[in-house]
Amino acid sequence: MSKRFRVVIVGGGPVGMAMAIELGQRGISCAIVERRTVPHRIPKGQGLTQRSMEHFYRWGVADWRFFGRIDAEEGFFFHAPVPMDTTRDNYDFHGLMQRAAGFEFACEFDYVGFWDMAVAIAKQYQVGRVFIAGDAAHSHPPYGGYGLNNGLDDVSNLGWKLAAQLNGWGSDASMKTYTEERQPIFRETAQDFILARIRTDRDFLEHYHPNRNREEFERAWEKGKTDTPARAMTYDPHCEGSSIVFGPPRGTCSARGTHTFAARPGHHLPSRLLSNRRNVFEALGREFTLLAFDVGDGAVAMFERASALLAVPLTVIRDSYSDGREAYKARLILVRPDHYVAWTGDAAPDSATAVAAKAVGRTGTV
Ligand SMILES: Cc1cc2nc3c(=O)[nH]c(=O)nc-3n(C[C@H](O)[C@H](O)[C@H](O)COP(=O)(O)OP(=O)(O)OC[C@H]3O[C@@H](n4cnc5c(N)ncnc54)[C@H](O)[C@@H]3O)c2cc1C
Repeated sequence: MSKRFRVVIVGGGPVGMAMAIELGQRGISCAIVERRTVPHRIPKGQGLTQRSMEHFYRWGVADWRFFGRIDAEEGFFFHAPVPMDTTRDNYDFHGLMQRAAGFEFACEFDYVGFWDMAVAIAKQYQVGRVFIAGDAAHSHPPYGGYGLNNGLDDVSNLGWKLAAQLNGWGSDASMKTYTEERQPIFRETAQDFILARIRTDRDFLEHYHPNRNREEFERAWEKGKTDTPARAMTYDPHCEGSSIVFGPPRGTCSARGTHTFAARPGHHLPSRLLSNRRNVFEALGREFTLLAFDVGDGAVAMFERASALLAVPLTVIRDSYSDGREAYKARLILVRPDHYVAWTGDAAPDSATAVAAKAVGRTGTV
């Protein structure tokens, strides 16, 4: 196997499969080792974000039913807390469901599975040439749809760095930033978004009940509905503090932020239309992309020379700094292969080679 494949992926769950696609599309051969021979029976990724759809678009699977769903004709999917020592055979699941529904009914069980109401985060995501991603790196109760979505973000962060290293233009330093960029994001996601929401829901259930005070219950319920979008507006996973992006002084890597159309180093590139009416994401290159809006040829040529010198593949997109693109608030934007912004400026930097070298973790080698 060591002679035929450059990467071995252990676990053919959605994250392992996505990693195989990500690496395969970057020209890296991989083998997936999976212990199961049939798909899981329950859906474990119904709540997928726009960002995950962007990954699917990039992988060419956006129109494909990537994750099999349970046959929902007559099927129901039910989660509930059960005592710690519960097994498939020592608990009355049918009774639990009838109590929850408030009436008696007949049913058959296709599948009973267990998950822990706990958060676990690996201390490090890398040991030498071994990396972990998805639930192997971070797991939590299925609350809020952060599990698979975060796992796919791991894939897009690690995939380009690993492929770049194997293709000869990456670096060990860049691969180390996988932990540096991704782990703090998940730690905050768990604390501030998942556990905080579980506590809010628990407090709600302790305080309000329609049988006690229906009016108060309905008021609190309506308020809860408006709180959810407000929480989503503060979810902006970013890596401003990464050692391979030009973030602000004292920037950190965090799950919290604000949403804006301005292009900011360490943040996901916002969506804008190009003058040919294509979305910028349809035009980005597979590796690095330089967006150049109404800047002189000299600035672009500097980046092209740097890319040739470092053998870093670069796509250049030139367009006007108008028609909505000025909302980026930068005329030059260097975009990483995972669609995060590495650097921005309004004019050529002192050294485009220094910028590109830092973006691939090769400062000191040029
Ligand atoms: C009920 C439920 C609902 C969920 N809903 C959502 C949702 O709506 N949105 C969301 O984002 N997330 C959701 N999640 C979380 C999501 O399912 C997980 O985050 C996601 O499955 C993680 O993918 P993974 O590939 O990392 O791990 P897994 O899906 O666990 O896949 C790991 C794979 O590795 C294989 N494997 C393990 N050990 C070995 C070994 N030693 N050798 C070979 N193979 C091995 C396993 O067989 C498995 O196929 C939900 C989870 C649950 C339980």
